[in-house]
Amino acid sequence: MGIQNIDSRVFFARRSKTRMYRPSLVITLCAILGLLGSLALATTATLTLTNPNQGTVTTGATALSTTQNRTTGRSASPSTNTQTPILPFPTLLWQQIAALQSHNRFLYTGNRYLPEIALTFDDGPSPYYTPQVLAILQQYKVKATFFCIGRQVARYPDLVRQEYNDGNLVGNHTWSHPNLALLSSSDILTQINLTADAIQQATGVRPTLFRPPYGVVNTRVLAKANLLGLTTIIWNDEARDWSTPGTGVIISRILNLAGDGAIILLHDGGGNRSQTIAALPTIIQTLRLRGFKFVTLQQMLNDLPKRPASTQAPVTVPTPASTP
Ligand code: ZN
Repeated sequence: MGIQNIDSRVFFARRSKTRMYRPSLVITLCAILGLLGSLALATTATLTLTNPNQGTVTTGATALSTTQNRTTGRSASPSTNTQTPILPFPTLLWQQIAALQSHNRFLYTGNRYLPEIALTFDDGPSPYYTPQVLAILQQYKVKATFFCIGRQVARYPDLVRQEYNDGNLVGNHTWSHPNLALLSSSDILTQINLTADAIQQATGVRPTLFRPPYGVVNTRVLAKANLLGLTTIIWNDEARDWSTPGTGVIISRILNLAGDGAIILLHDGGGNRSQTIAALPTIIQTLRLRGFKFVTLQQMLNDLPKRPASTQAPVTVPTPASTP
């Protein structure tokens, strides 16, 4: 499959002693990859972080669809669960992010004033680890969201169907997990659409949630996400479990960053996820004891403030000076 430790090349937000409710920090900490991607694309239209008007931003998680059933968090209809594109759509990256955020279509966190947490699992399905994750979720009656890789979906459609039938959401994580900032618009479209087709074939529902690999977006990526009516979902709580730091470390990192509206990133595919599996029960039990409720990303979207721009921290495009 060639995706061992698929995210290991990425530098994500590191653990902070303070709660990670600062999107600018998330973006800044992830900016290195975006900068590298931009440099690699020096001959293309991709932007560098030094130019906030046109850039590649590495964030932490993104978007969902919105026409899903409010009570169940499940799609009411396979054909009516995408958003209407924002038109006209801005051409500058920061404007695109602002426009999407104003429609609750670009998220790195849920409602910061509600004790809700969303568990998300990326890079699956895996025939070995995904069933173990599903069994734990069933045991604790937790609904989560899986951001699947299209070629894995095509190989293991039954697992994706089980994810969905268990009450979880299934999101789009591209066909082969590339850095989308390095691709042309047409290749970005292919990566998203092939995966959407595979998920729809497996579950009967076309995904409306999209997570770009490594959390990297640029203007081409967001333009396609808008056009397709997708909601981009990043994250604000992760343990870099792909680096197999040890079960205890995964637990402590997740718990230290958890808070109201947290979107937790873990992995059920792309490498050895035994530590993630071992950490999951303690993470669930501890956060429940702290009073948090586990919800799907759709429920988290439903519970967002009506005017997100005034209640969520602004997204800022990082500059090299602020990049660690
Ligand atoms: Zn991934």
